[in-house]
Amino acid sequence: MVEPLVSDNFEIWALREGYFYLDGGTMFGIVPKIIWEKKAPADRLNRICLATNFLLIRTPKGNILVETGLGENWPAKFREIYAIDLTPGLKRALKEVGIGPEDINFVINTHLHFDHCGHNTEKRGDDFLPTFPRALYLIQKGEWEAALNPNERDKSSYLEANFLPLMKAGQVELIEGDKEIMPGVKIVLTPGHTAFHQSVLISDGTKEIFFAGDLVPTSAHIGLSYIMSYDLFPTETLKTKKWWLNQAVEKNWIVAYVHDPSCFFSLVKKDKDKFVVVPFEGF
Ligand SMILES: [Zn+2]
Repeated sequence: MVEPLVSDNFEIWALREGYFYLDGGTMFGIVPKIIWEKKAPADRLNRICLATNFLLIRTPKGNILVETGLGENWPAKFREIYAIDLTPGLKRALKEVGIGPEDINFVINTHLHFDHCGHNTEKRGDDFLPTFPRALYLIQKGEWEAALNPNERDKSSYLEANFLPLMKAGQVELIEGDKEIMPGVKIVLTPGHTAFHQSVLISDGTKEIFFAGDLVPTSAHIGLSYIMSYDLFPTETLKTKKWWLNQAVEKNWIVAYVHDPSCFFSLVKKDKDKFVVVPFEGF
């Protein structure tokens, strides 16, 4: 079992819901395959393996979940296209560390694409209900509006069952911009992947963890030009990524990766103008 990062104010568990596969070319944007395949080998359908990682932050003031993965409501066709493997699954991963759905007080989704909020809700009978009955779900207002009015390019990424039932249940707080949700846990706006994508910065005053979300989905995306084709505003991603990775280098942050199948955390350094991943050995 993974060990948590323990500090004076909190305990951070990096957990994994499961795996899925996406087209490698799409995942690396303009970077040619001859270069990216060294970092992420492709299968015969040109897909690369990705994980759905999430954080459980335990604090004296409550438990926070960052991301809820793909969820379980997938028709066979999509399970096949994306080769979805929900081992162990989000609830089981939480159960293994002694946490039940009713123990979660806050859920943060970096954005509302289906691979980040899939387990926000669960199907019970014909309805979808919040998976975490006592949680407040913290979502950017702009992201909420984008999810309700998707365009032809991003509408397949938004599934209403992942978020509409939360509002119906009165469990959504729509945030505008940055927000400290409790001492040491801050939501920060990191636009580019979507216009209102958000990340999470966790700090105990000396150690800081930056959960980048799809701003830097895996450690293989540390290079500035490694930007997914899914990103709606790639030049904005570039600007945002440059600023936050410079912060990570200067302040020696631990960067957490939502989709990396083999690495939850790393440090980052700068080699001339290039950002480079440095293995994280622990607190
Ligand atoms: Zn994603």
